[in-house]
Amino acid sequence: MTDQELWQKVLNEAEIKLSKANFITWFKSTYVSSQKDGVVTVAVPNGFTKTWFESKYNKLIFSSLRNLNNRIKEVCYIIENKKPSFNMPDASVEVEEIEETQLKLEGLQIDKETNLNPKYSFDNFVVGNSNDLANATALAVTKKPGVLYNPLFVYGGVGLGKTHLLQSIGNKLKDKKSVIYLTSENFTNEFLDAMQNKSPAAFKNKYRNKDVLIIDDIQFIAGKERTQEEFFYTFNALHEQNKQIVISSDRPPKAIPTLDERLRSRFEGGMLVDIGYPDYETRVTILKTKIKNKDISLSKEVIDYIANNIQKNIRELEGALNLIIASCYLYKNEPTLEQTKKILSHIIDKPKKPISYKKIFSVVSNFYEIAESDLVGKNRKQSIVFPRQITMYLMREEMKVSYPYIGEKVGGRDHTTVMHACEKIENTLKIRGDFEEELNLIKQQIYSV
Ligand code: ADP
Ligand code: MG
Repeated sequence: MTDQELWQKVLNEAEIKLSKANFITWFKSTYVSSQKDGVVTVAVPNGFTKTWFESKYNKLIFSSLRNLNNRIKEVCYIIENKKPSFNMPDASVEVEEIEETQLKLEGLQIDKETNLNPKYSFDNFVVGNSNDLANATALAVTKKPGVLYNPLFVYGGVGLGKTHLLQSIGNKLKDKKSVIYLTSENFTNEFLDAMQNKSPAAFKNKYRNKDVLIIDDIQFIAGKERTQEEFFYTFNALHEQNKQIVISSDRPPKAIPTLDERLRSRFEGGMLVDIGYPDYETRVTILKTKIKNKDISLSKEVIDYIANNIQKNIRELEGALNLIIASCYLYKNEPTLEQTKKILSHIIDKPKKPISYKKIFSVVSNFYEIAESDLVGKNRKQSIVFPRQITMYLMREEMKVSYPYIGEKVGGRDHTTVMHACEKIENTLKIRGDFEEELNLIKQQIYSV
């Protein structure tokens, strides 16, 4: 059988076994480069596909080759682009599927011991106005772990690089120190498991014997009393021995309601740094950095378009870029501005979803950890009155509805009460420097999902 015949048969089988999107994405531009002594060499167009074939499709390819010719002992993959690609079905592929596969591929690289993903490093973390302090303190921590800033507490909105920075610290230290990275949700679940299986000692040892403990998204620990208590002891045990602790959160410690007072003061006793929204230059640099190793060049206007339209979330910025990259791989050319607009239209032109007061109720009550019924109730405690006023303010600002309407929905209150609430929040915005950030977080949650 010629190389071409052999490979066409493999393709036929793969086409049946895989989804159309996956089949086209991965098998387009592949061919058998050579067959010798029972070794078949398959050419793939780039390193990304090579890794994917080796880790995911090797079994499928090998067994279908074996069925065709049982003298084949081995398959290997090389990056090569010599022959024209095979005739493929029409490439009307959902590019999101490629993103999904990419995520899975990344999942394969996570280190079992430390939970660290090697893709995050200081080298590929772009520094700008919004994150230079966070970056500098994180780097300082890697130079003198446990000594300088302990704990280091990094906070900021969704998709702005907290996880990236935390993991970079871990990756930089992991060869010299015993490092463990986990989210506060994982910590909670493991703790509960340990309690149920009556193995608290193993749990304690696991975390108290580390040199560096990195806990991501600590806000989820709020309200969970026993977990917080356990975390407090772990924290102290490590801190006393000058072991480094690094924590992230979507907001500063004092804005996490129902965070144990003892923990709050421990966190505030360390170094607090925030990460803000990236400015335009940083966004452009991020985009350029991410395409550097992909042998793709995008025009200035395409890069500008993405950077101008996605401003508040680096994950979304990357997501948009990945769609463009996927399209480059699929169609073998760099998209024009018009094509870019089309590819990204579902992300960028997404009409701002009309929001309902119910959504505001649920986000605000979740954020401040109070019951929704308290928002419309009569309780005069400050910890409830304030979120209630925020609710009214957000209904006014985001839904543009009338004061009487708001009053009616928020427990049948008089319109003057609503006006007073809105004024109160506007004043708070002027006086309390960090309040705008808090409000932005709430808005972000209202508009996401
Ligand atoms: P967070 O944990 O704050 O929600 P992540 O750290 O997960 O955000 O960042 C979201 C994505 O954006 C990640 O893929 C990350 O690598 C990327 N990213 C964030 N900040 C930067 C940066 N300054 N330079 C390069 N990539 C970044
Ligand atoms: Mg994160």
